[in-house]
Amino acid sequence: MESFVLRSWQMTQPGAPLVRAEHSVSQGSLADGEVLVKVAACGVCHTDLGFYYGQVRPGRALPLTLGHEISGVVVAAGAASQNMVGRKVIVPAVIPCGACDLCWAGRGSICRSQLFPGSDVQGGFASHVVVPGRGLCPVDDRALAHSKLDLSDLAVIADAVSTPYQAVLRSGLIAGDTAVIVGAGGVGGFAAQIAAALGANVIAVDVDQARLDALAEHGVKFTVCSKDKDPGAVRKAVTEKVKGEGWNPYLWKIFETSGHPRGQETAFTLLTFGAHLSVVGYTLEKVNLRLSNLMAFDAAAQGNWGCLPSNYPGALNLVLEGKVKLTPFIEKRPMSQINETLNDLHEGRMRRRPVLIPDDEA
Ligand SMILES: [Zn+2]
Ligand SMILES: [Zn+2]
Repeated sequence: MESFVLRSWQMTQPGAPLVRAEHSVSQGSLADGEVLVKVAACGVCHTDLGFYYGQVRPGRALPLTLGHEISGVVVAAGAASQNMVGRKVIVPAVIPCGACDLCWAGRGSICRSQLFPGSDVQGGFASHVVVPGRGLCPVDDRALAHSKLDLSDLAVIADAVSTPYQAVLRSGLIAGDTAVIVGAGGVGGFAAQIAAALGANVIAVDVDQARLDALAEHGVKFTVCSKDKDPGAVRKAVTEKVKGEGWNPYLWKIFETSGHPRGQETAFTLLTFGAHLSVVGYTLEKVNLRLSNLMAFDAAAQGNWGCLPSNYPGALNLVLEGKVKLTPFIEKRPMSQINETLNDLHEGRMRRRPVLIPDDEA
């Protein structure tokens, strides 16, 4: 029976350097619905930092392999999933059970039995991962070849692209809408590209001018650097631009992706009549808001956790069609540099989203 050596980087205690481990996985050890995915790449997310530095408790006990932004190839499968062997796939960051009341109601991203790789099951900072076959997003070989992208480029779709994609879908955004993205880094940058790809007039707000400049050639029509501006001044700048251009002054689709209290205040201050505010970023901090603005503007606010597997193909297509660019926003590194990379990300030394490629030491 065929067996595979699974090399991984394990978290043994919060903040301690990840430790390389190795064990073998045999074809026969896979359960009926499980598959073994050979990792092409795994993106590094701030959620991984939350687990690593002990601010967020993972779903299972240590030692644990982190990493939930995985692309790869199915190299072995349990009896029920044999048809997937050889397929290139993206592993969703949130894998719903598919059978509970929430899943049946179409709310699988909040399924209470969901699996989150790198928290509930061993994750993608490894040569291979064992995950359920259900929900995997297949990547068509011909479409990938035509896109000139590499499978490893697609890892960030698993969270950084799919999560804002679902938020954009749920906002009801249509072509011609005014969309404002607060927080133009990683997830926010992809949110801006997705909204632009769907035909919105996109405005990006960030404290960092360099991040805004990076988006200027990717569909964002106006940027506001909020470094020295209070939320009211940001609102004024955005409103004047919308008026000057004749864009839709109502029904704005606002996406808070910064995960900072100031960003949240700014996003809330941008509410207009009929606006939809999507809360995608996360912070433990509280903010002081006049919630009645939602009533006065007949506006809506909605949170977003992950992305349903059924929405992945739509997000993937935007990338394969070249409407959402990934490569200018990611930095690939050998997986053996994982400890330095976590540190660099934590210290704010990374301009792009790190993506780790398994190497000989992986
Ligand atoms: Zn993530
Ligand atoms: Zn479920």
